[in-house]
Amino acid sequence: MSKRQLCETCLRPLKTCICKHVRPVSNAASLIILQHPQEVYEAKNSAKLLNLCLKNSQIHVGEVFDDGFFQKTQAENFYDLLLYPDTPEEKSLGILKPPEIDVSQLNSGDNLKIRLWVLDGTWRKSRKMLYLNPAMQSMPRLSLQDCPPSLYTIRKAHSENQLSTLEASCYALQQLEHYSVDYSPVLSAFAAFVAEQHTFLPSSS
Ligand SMILES: [Zn+2]
Repeated sequence: MSKRQLCETCLRPLKTCICKHVRPVSNAASLIILQHPQEVYEAKNSAKLLNLCLKNSQIHVGEVFDDGFFQKTQAENFYDLLLYPDTPEEKSLGILKPPEIDVSQLNSGDNLKIRLWVLDGTWRKSRKMLYLNPAMQSMPRLSLQDCPPSLYTIRKAHSENQLSTLEASCYALQQLEHYSVDYSPVLSAFAAFVAEQHTFLPSSS
């Protein structure tokens, strides 16, 4: 059996390589994407494109991250925030109530000290990742406000306001950085990516 050739940068088959869409942007607040393993080879996934566009970003694949991973990253003295909505059913799952956001940290004007964590997976998988990683439960949470409607028309969203990982991360970073960085090149790159994905889908759907 011959393996399909993959692009070394985006790890996709050469035919659907997304590297041509990449538009570099220097985000001020850092971004860490924790990607569920099932998303890695998902053609419609936007996290890798986001990671390739944002200079100040990392992507880590896994469902459970060991304590060492969080200890190592948290030793770096960032103010860590988790991008995650407030969902009422969490209490019954035993997920800890997150601490309040320290507004003085956000308004210090030093965006370089802020780090945003994003879970990349379906709604259900993200919730499981939060459940399985108590270190994430102890991060204050940022939820998005007043976002434009999603460009993400490929995958059925869990709710009307559910955005792709790429969009949600860009809007959250914009809020954290008080709109000092322009994310429109990344959002345009995403629009081009979505349009291209449609050309790979059967026209009847
Ligand atoms: Zn590529």
